Amino acid sequence: MLKDTQKGKVIVLVAPSGAGKTSLSQRLVKHFPTISFSVSATTRQPRSYEKKGVDYYFISQEQFQEGIDTDQFLEWEEFYGGTRYGTPISEVEKNYNSGYITLLDIEVHGALNVKNIYGDDCLSVFIKPPSLEVLKERLEKRGTENEHSLKLRLERAKHELELEQKFDKVIVNDDFDQAYKELEQLVNQFIHTHS
Ligand code: 5GP
Repeated sequence: MLKDTQKGKVIVLVAPSGAGKTSLSQRLVKHFPTISFSVSATTRQPRSYEKKGVDYYFISQEQFQEGIDTDQFLEWEEFYGGTRYGTPISEVEKNYNSGYITLLDIEVHGALNVKNIYGDDCLSVFIKPPSLEVLKERLEKRGTENEHSLKLRLERAKHELELEQKFDKVIVNDDFDQAYKELEQLVNQFIHTHS
């Protein structure tokens, strides 16, 4: 389990699927050498452009269940009709205990759980699309979803948007560069604040 030596920090970025969070987090990791990205485990199939162990650890339902049974996840959630996603404790613990910063790109409930665990050592940021219509257009343009999964993702986005006020900060991703600038400033401030 996690040790109680509060040295490192954790940043959680949350956004409805297609709100631009992945691009923002990749740019953040490039800019800040002390931030490392937490790779989640998932039972969903890899997309054509995704790399195993880089974007996700793609594992079976059985492997995921074993991870739950042996307490290997900091948090995990199941959505989109049975797909599971989880943050392996190992992705965060080593960084945290040695004073580094871990960036998590996860969904809203997992993020709120992580915020609960780390308190002031965690910055939680909600990345918001300008509207649900824009989100739908972005997802259609990305071309990774069929009609059914697009519908599920939009329904989930509606639910996630209802929880935005529970986050430390909300950034609207209307213009990518502007949203990134805001995020970079926020992160800069956070990593230089001693809690
Ligand atoms: P996607 O299938 O589009 O990669 O991800 C779907 C959703 O799952 C996104 O909102 C993503 O942030 C979230 N997600 C990815 N990894 C995790 C995780 O480890 N835990 C939780 N709770 N959500 C995750």
